[in-house]
Amino acid sequence: MTEIIVIGAGPAGVAAAVTAAEAGARVTLIDENSLPGGQYFKQAALPAPASLPPTLAENFRQGQALLAGLSHKNITFRGNTLVWNVTPDRTVSLYGPAGPETLAAAQLIIAAGAYERVMPFPGWTLPGVMTVGGAQLLLKGQRLLAGQRILLAGTGPLLQVAGVQLLEAGAEIVAIAELQPLGSIIARSPRFLGHRDKVKLALNNARRLKRAGVPVKFGYAIVRATGENEVSGAVIARVDAAGHPRPGPESALAVDTVCLNFGFAPDTRLTQLAGCKHHFAERFGGWAAITDDNMETSQPGIFAVGEVRGIGGVEAALPEGRLAGQVAARKSGYRTDESAGPTRRAARRARALVGQLNTVFAVKPGLMTLAQDDTLICRCEEISAGQLRAAIREGITTLNNLKPWTRAGMGRCQGRICGPILAHLLAAETGLEAQSAGQFTVRPPVKPVPLSTLLPQNNNDEVAHDK
Ligand SMILES: Cc1cc2nc3c(=O)[nH]c(=O)nc-3n(C[C@H](O)[C@H](O)[C@H](O)COP(=O)(O)OP(=O)(O)OC[C@H]3O[C@@H](n4cnc5c(N)ncnc54)[C@H](O)[C@@H]3O)c2cc1C
Repeated sequence: MTEIIVIGAGPAGVAAAVTAAEAGARVTLIDENSLPGGQYFKQAALPAPASLPPTLAENFRQGQALLAGLSHKNITFRGNTLVWNVTPDRTVSLYGPAGPETLAAAQLIIAAGAYERVMPFPGWTLPGVMTVGGAQLLLKGQRLLAGQRILLAGTGPLLQVAGVQLLEAGAEIVAIAELQPLGSIIARSPRFLGHRDKVKLALNNARRLKRAGVPVKFGYAIVRATGENEVSGAVIARVDAAGHPRPGPESALAVDTVCLNFGFAPDTRLTQLAGCKHHFAERFGGWAAITDDNMETSQPGIFAVGEVRGIGGVEAALPEGRLAGQVAARKSGYRTDESAGPTRRAARRARALVGQLNTVFAVKPGLMTLAQDDTLICRCEEISAGQLRAAIREGITTLNNLKPWTRAGMGRCQGRICGPILAHLLAAETGLEAQSAGQFTVRPPVKPVPLSTLLPQNNNDEVAHDK
């Protein structure tokens, strides 16, 4: 039996592993990536060149300071290893370089992070249309620019953060299309009082984009991406308060890359498999694992930290990870000197800010009207908006009924990309709230593994994608 297993080596998982190890516990930290760091502190797969763009260099330095703690003798880091099943009794099924394996944990900390949300429009499946995080991963992990002439579109501060990073790395940012009108952001700005450092950072990014001549179009959405075999243009238009394009002129932009971000959705697949309770959080419009103040879920000995608890950003992920590390170590019989009070307060403060941000930068329902009947929604199974609308007209109101009826969500990504879109589509077509669509039921394997992993005899190398 392993004393403590931590799934996910992002900021939350690393903070948990280091804290528990320093208290004396033996920790196994697992990540499907070869290197620890997660999304925010993504490490370069290639040796980092001496001069990084300044914003990334600072991010890299902060990451190195956190990751140095992983050299602790009590920590075993298992990279390139994915977890494809977790059971309520804390049995963890892995697939890594040595093949399949099963571990049992006395305490289990799930820090699986989040994935990005996108909204569909004609042309969104063209090569060259990607998520903002995809472009950041190329930059952080491989030092590659996603393109030369980039449109960033969606909603939230990440658009401007990434705009500055891509600009520093040498791209031309053709425009940033921010869904929220500037007036509504300013009207809600008192919510950020008390977070002066963040406001300063945001204003600094805005100034840098302005100096570089980047047009930041508030109250705009991308309505079409154009191109034959890859994206070569994008059309943006002003939208009304509900997100419907306003009648009037559109702007056509010549671009080779479109980067989208409409916020994040917690990756709750492992906490769902573990039988933990979840709730729908209005503040970011998605499902998250429920925990107590010690980060323990409804399943004893199973903790959820960072984005799995709800979108909270890196500054919530770090103290939450530390807290879970302390409590799990104590439950394993070790003493920790760190007091839980200040750690809890830091986590709450960070979550309060991101909670406000999420309400200011919410996705708008009118965006769903951009998807035409022939626009693909589930790109893995190639299911169009028209097919889905027809199914909803038949009376379907939940994700779990839409899936077997249409196959949407049954493909390789297992609904990670289309799930939040389908919830919006169901809400738009039925008039019900997004949470009434429910969550997809999750079944193992949550990640593609060789079929032989699932069979009693290891005699097959095919990959299991579909269920
Ligand atoms: C594109 C993007 C940009 C962001 N930009 C900012 C920003 O500018 N500022 C900010 O404060 N926050 C930002 N965030 C949020 C920030 O990344 C997170 O708040 C922070 O990384 C959360 O840490 P975490 O440990 O919860 O998750 P993550 O950093 O996402 O780490 C989760 C880890 O779990 C691993 N994992 C997941 N499932 C499995 C599995 N089944 N098996 C094995 N390993 C698994 C993943 O590989 C990953 O390494 C961004 C997030 C994204 C996605």
